[in-house]
Amino acid sequence: MSGAQGLEPEPSKKRILVIEDEPDIIRGLRDALEFEGFEVEARGTGAEGLVAAMEWAPDCVLLDLMLPDDNGYRVCENLRKTDETVPIIMLTAKAQESDKVRGLEAGADDYVTKPFSVAELIARINAIFRRQNRMGSHQDETFNIGAWVINARKHTMTKGRATQRLTFYELEVLKLLRERSEETVSRDELLEKVWGMQPSTTSRTVDNFIVKLRRKLEEDQKNPRHILTVYGLGYKLVP
Ligand code: CA
Repeated sequence: MSGAQGLEPEPSKKRILVIEDEPDIIRGLRDALEFEGFEVEARGTGAEGLVAAMEWAPDCVLLDLMLPDDNGYRVCENLRKTDETVPIIMLTAKAQESDKVRGLEAGADDYVTKPFSVAELIARINAIFRRQNRMGSHQDETFNIGAWVINARKHTMTKGRATQRLTFYELEVLKLLRERSEETVSRDELLEKVWGMQPSTTSRTVDNFIVKLRRKLEEDQKNPRHILTVYGLGYKLVP
């Protein structure tokens, strides 16, 4: 292949937008992600990051919580206004559970806490793309949970005239639970299959996510009828 061809854009490469202001972290991420075969763009402020997200249409966003011009939660909310489905992984120095919940509320899908392992981050990103590829082979898939109709292609859930959007991870959690309807799916399995994470007894990611999903799905969140907790084991979907 000639040098000129090498400059052609490669549409098959997954694009990862890094919104982060620390040069060392950007350098480390760029090297590792490019080595994995991803295309990488980095922006150092929330405002620049939002513009890049709109113009470049990344397949995944890595978003620092502490940016010089804005906090990551607000940037995340603004990202979600223009792209409701792109997976957003927050890079955070904070490990407080309340911060994680706040990030999920803002529309983030996952977290890594600094200092993080790049290998672990890449495993999570690869898990996203593996599941996205799988989804590509079931483009028309719809299924019911209670009165809601979930449309996997459109990332929507519809009941009568009410429509809500589902983020990538929300949909993936529902799909995995639905594949195993009426069976208990453990937190570890959800973490591993959806987030690409090593099973961890300390992670509350799954539980926080289920709270969020119930808010969308359940008429009475305190007495859920569809996403049931199996104490000490995991969750079970009763469609
Ligand atoms: Ca920062």
